[in-house]
Amino acid sequence: MNLQEFLNAYRAFGKAEWENVVEGANKDLNLFDETLYALAAESEKRTPVIKRALVEHHPEVARYRRRIEDFEGYPKDDMLTLSRAMRTDVMKLMELRNMAAQNLGYHDYKDLDCEQSRIHEETIKDRLQEVVETHASKAEALIEKHKMTWESWFQDLRELTAFEEALNPQDIVEKVVETFGFTKLRDVLSIHQDEQGIAGFARKFSDRDIRIAGRIIDNASDLKTFIHELSHAILYAYNTPKTLDDFLLPANDEFLANLLETVIAKKVCTQTQKWMIQKVDTLEMIRMSLSGLFELDLWNKVKTPEERFVHHYERLMPIKHPEYWSLDSFRSVDPLFIQYYPLGRLAGKNMLVIIDQEGLEGTELGDWLYDHLINRATEIELASFL
Ligand SMILES: [Zn+2]
Repeated sequence: MNLQEFLNAYRAFGKAEWENVVEGANKDLNLFDETLYALAAESEKRTPVIKRALVEHHPEVARYRRRIEDFEGYPKDDMLTLSRAMRTDVMKLMELRNMAAQNLGYHDYKDLDCEQSRIHEETIKDRLQEVVETHASKAEALIEKHKMTWESWFQDLRELTAFEEALNPQDIVEKVVETFGFTKLRDVLSIHQDEQGIAGFARKFSDRDIRIAGRIIDNASDLKTFIHELSHAILYAYNTPKTLDDFLLPANDEFLANLLETVIAKKVCTQTQKWMIQKVDTLEMIRMSLSGLFELDLWNKVKTPEERFVHHYERLMPIKHPEYWSLDSFRSVDPLFIQYYPLGRLAGKNMLVIIDQEGLEGTELGDWLYDHLINRATEIELASFL
C-alpha cells in the first residue's frame, strides 16, 4: 500500500460523507470504512494516521459511531426518550474504541489520542478548568438574562446574537483573502449554504477542490462557525501529505482551526459583530470545556455518567434530566475532539497577544501565520501554545 492509494481512499470516504451529509445522498459509508481499514491493516508502517484508521474505520467502531451520529433507528419522540435509547450504544462505542486501541498496544483509546495530540491529560484538564473559572460569572449572567437551557442552547445562541440581515459568505472569504493574502482560496474553495442544513462541514475533495457547508449567516454563532470552517479550508488548501507520516490528524486539525478562527474573527469582523461573537465565545468556551472535562471522566471509566454529567454541568445551569448525558455536545462532533475546541481558542487568544506585541498586520500577519502555523500544521507542538 502506498501513500497515493491510501490518500485516494481517504478522500473518497470524505467525498461520500459530504454527499450524504450535505447533498442528502444515501451512500453506504461502511464500504468506504472497509476499504480504508483493509488498506491500513496491510500497511507495514504504523504511522499516526494508520493507527487512527485502524480504530476509526474498524468495522464495528464505524458502525456504532454512525448509528449514534445519525440517530439511526432510535425513537426520537423527545430528547429524553432518545437519550435513554442511545445510552447502551454510546457505552458500547467507547468500549469498542478501547478494544481497537488496545489491539495497537495502548492502554485505551484516550492514551492513543493523547499520544497523537502530544498534550498531556493533566495539562488538558488544568487548562479546561481554567477556562471554566475565567468564563463562569459572565456566562452565568448571560444564561440567566436570556433564560437559556441545556436543551435549547444552540438555538438560544443564534437568537440572542441575531443580525438584522444575513451576510454574504463570498464577501467574508474575500475579506479574509484581502486581509491575510490567502489567495489560494479564490481558486479552490466552494461554499454550500442551506437554510436548515448542518451547522458546519469542511472537506477536501482534491488539492483544487475544497468545500465548506453551513447555514445562512444571520447571527454571530453561525458567523463564527463559518469562519471556523473557512479556517479548516485554509489548512486543507495549504497542506497536502507528502508521506504517510504527514497527515493532518483530528487533534491538530481542530485545534488549529479554532486558533485561526479566533485570529481571523478578530481581524475581519466589524466592532458590532465582534461584540456579539464575544458573547457566543464566552458561552461556547465554558460549555465545551465542561463537556471535555465530563468526557475525560467517561474515558476514565466512571461508573455513573449521569452523576458526573450533572456534577460538571450544574456549574453552569440546572440539568433537568441526567439521562441527557448521552446526547452531550461532544456527540455531535466526535468523542475526544471536543477539548481541542476550547484549547485551540485559548491558544488563539494567547497568539493575539503575541501578534499585537509584534505589531503584525495584514499580509505580513498572513505570511507569519503561514510560516508559524499553517505550513507546519501536521508537525506543530500544540502544547507549546497553551
Ligand atoms: Zn472543526
